[in-house]
Amino acid sequence: MASGRLKGEVAVIGGGIAGLAAARRLTESGIEVVVLDKGRRPGGRMSTRQQHDRQFDHGAQYIRPHSRRSAVLFSKWRKAGLITPWHAQALELPQRKKVDTSSWHVGLPSQSALTDYLAKDLNVQCQFTALDISGEKDRWSIIGHKHQSAGPFKAVFVTCPAEQTALLMRPFPELHEIVSQASSRPCLATMVEFEEEVMVDFEAAFMEKSTLAWVCRDSAKPGRPNKECWVLQASEEFSRANLEDPPEVIASKMLHAFAPLSPVELPPVSFCRGHRWRYAFASQTIELKQPFFPEVGIGFAGDWLCSANVDEAYWSGVDLAEHYLRLKEK
Ligand SMILES: Cc1cc2nc3c(=O)[nH]c(=O)nc-3n(C[C@H](O)[C@H](O)[C@H](O)COP(=O)(O)OP(=O)(O)OC[C@H]3O[C@@H](n4cnc5c(N)ncnc54)[C@H](O)[C@@H]3O)c2cc1C
Repeated sequence: MASGRLKGEVAVIGGGIAGLAAARRLTESGIEVVVLDKGRRPGGRMSTRQQHDRQFDHGAQYIRPHSRRSAVLFSKWRKAGLITPWHAQALELPQRKKVDTSSWHVGLPSQSALTDYLAKDLNVQCQFTALDISGEKDRWSIIGHKHQSAGPFKAVFVTCPAEQTALLMRPFPELHEIVSQASSRPCLATMVEFEEEVMVDFEAAFMEKSTLAWVCRDSAKPGRPNKECWVLQASEEFSRANLEDPPEVIASKMLHAFAPLSPVELPPVSFCRGHRWRYAFASQTIELKQPFFPEVGIGFAGDWLCSANVDEAYWSGVDLAEHYLRLKEK
């Protein structure tokens, strides 16, 4: 990741896996790209929360390939030491049905290792929340929340979740109408470290008809610090009903829902924090005939154009970049 100029040929708004994949593909073809992201680090929903000597993958939990090209990509990433298989002992609860985890992988030593790798040597500008795209085709400027201005750019790729993309598309009524057809659903998450091992016979579990939808001993993933760190995810119903609660209230309610899974009392808690993912999973996706609109010079990528998983979001970024490159050749 480099700090650099705030202008180039293409601006990529959003430094999640889709935006980073697009930016890398363009950079490989010699195009000057600036990635603008509102977070403190790039990675988006692939982030890992580092808290002193503990860490939590509080967004995407594991990745698996959904296509032939993803399988090829995963083997490349495995060889580079960026990801590793995670054959977790996982159950569906309450039935206690075993889950096939043979295709599960995780980033090494954290989920964010993959996005950190993709961001390496790119011009990524963090803490830049894009509020407005102004100007005209071939000369776009992007205005940030601290009145920063980036540009001019020939083209802009918007790779934020659908709702955040729609906000940026308000000056472009036709694009706004298209993007507004997609939507996401929220997910509340809790990161918790216990002082001792939690006495359950699984490392991860999908849960039905519960406040929680997923629980995972995050520290059981390969290459993690020797701790007892868990990540809990709430059900859609609970997440929607409690979305505006303060993080400590979210964490307390979710921990309470976790307790009955252990046959004995939970060990003392040494760290506990709730996190609100307002746009967690693309729920209503849309299919675009083409991801780039040359008449305005704006294109889109992200999971709302495919499905809510990491490898497909990655390919949506690559596909957008390649579409742009093909148009340039004509
Ligand atoms: C709790 C949770 C669990 C998940 N579990 C899994 C899983 O196990 N496996 C799996 O495959 N997928 C999982 N997913 C889904 C997966 O994480 C996403 O589908 C994928 O990471 C989406 O990538 P993206 O690049 O499209 O979006 P994002 O990662 O959301 O990237 C978009 C970026 O845009 C930035 N941004 C937004 N608005 C602006 C703005 N105005 N200006 C500048 N920047 C902006 C954000 O900061 C963000 O970095 C999970 C998601 C969540 C939240």
